[in-house]
Amino acid sequence: MTTVLDQQLVLEELHVPDYERVIKVTHEQAGLTAIISIHNRSLGKVSMGGTRIYPYASFDDALTDVLRLSKGMTYKSALAECPWGGAKSCIILDPKKGLSREMLHAFAEALNVLQGIYICAEDVGCSPDTLAIVAEKTPFVVGLSHDRSSGNPSPFTAWGVFRGIQAVMYTLFNTDSVAGRTIAIQGVGSVGSKLAEYLFWHGAKLILTDRNMDVAEKLGHEFGAKVVSPDEIFDEPCDVFAPCALGGVINEKTLERLRCRAVAGATNNPLLTENDGEALMRAGILYAPDFVINGGGLINVTCETVERGYNPLESRNQIDKIYDQIRLIFDIAQKNHISTQRAALRLGDYRLQYGVGRRTKLVYLHHADLSY
Ligand code: NAD
Repeated sequence: MTTVLDQQLVLEELHVPDYERVIKVTHEQAGLTAIISIHNRSLGKVSMGGTRIYPYASFDDALTDVLRLSKGMTYKSALAECPWGGAKSCIILDPKKGLSREMLHAFAEALNVLQGIYICAEDVGCSPDTLAIVAEKTPFVVGLSHDRSSGNPSPFTAWGVFRGIQAVMYTLFNTDSVAGRTIAIQGVGSVGSKLAEYLFWHGAKLILTDRNMDVAEKLGHEFGAKVVSPDEIFDEPCDVFAPCALGGVINEKTLERLRCRAVAGATNNPLLTENDGEALMRAGILYAPDFVINGGGLINVTCETVERGYNPLESRNQIDKIYDQIRLIFDIAQKNHISTQRAALRLGDYRLQYGVGRRTKLVYLHHADLSY
């Protein structure tokens, strides 16, 4: 089905097996080509996920990315006990033309057509300032900068990763303590730098790298860390390798080099393929699945959408439970002789099938004074 609005805005349904709705959005005059992918709404009639704004090489590349990311959001919500359907969107950027207010307004109009079944949020290339422009035309946005907002998610994501690393410690060493353990952090941007700080104050020894070596050197000085090049990090002996940069870093080639006991970090989709989860298991490396350990940002923004409004204490307390989720997954994996990645997916499937944690309360968008 294709919906044509104001002669310019076109919403075209793409039929993708196992996905609830995948919609190609175009607006010729505004120069917009976007995709909204709603994967699964078993846990909430309202779905949520970031809007990635990126210069994809082709429409098919964008489609592949948004399908994979929206499915990931379904599992992330299920494992974080956040009552959202899993979704994601992307705007395909033409680097020559860049991003315009008209494009974002046209995208907002598409969200209005969907009547709130999808709420967009921050992602790569999409800052709170970008979202503010989208919000000029639609209420269906979270993560804006305003006095009732949940603010920057990164410190909360980092806290969840820290709690996940504590669960890893327990499994490996029978103690939650990271004191004296060596953690190698790949990428010290918003999340990685905060994770380094939490680990430092809890007594860990750090190895840091970043594509921007100046940033890594500066933090290295601050935390007395060893600083290595982005390539060398894979060869560093450590207890935990914490990817906090880009996806696909765990693959056939890097697996041969890794000298860690565990992989636990913030990166979305660190495994290049599903098989790499099994390969980690065979290599005796404990893996904390990304969509469980990095759920802190999602939990934080979810806390903004409850009737009583955002409270950082509630957010932190719920993020603390990532520790229990990770331990539960390790337990399922051990008892069933399966990889931790497979165990996490199994637990997610179970929750989706039986509606565990399904939404029972309204979504509140306080900035727009809207609940539904
Ligand atoms: P960021 O852009 O602030 O930081 C990423 C850092 O990685 C940058 O400093 C960059 O220079 C560095 N980097 C890129 N490629 C590298 C490489 N090959 N080697 C070493 N360093 C490299 O991003 P972020 O917000 O900190 O997010 C980090 C990861 O965590 C991303 O995969 C993101 O999708 C994921 N994540 C973030 C959040 C959040 O709340 N920000 C939530 C969930 C997941």
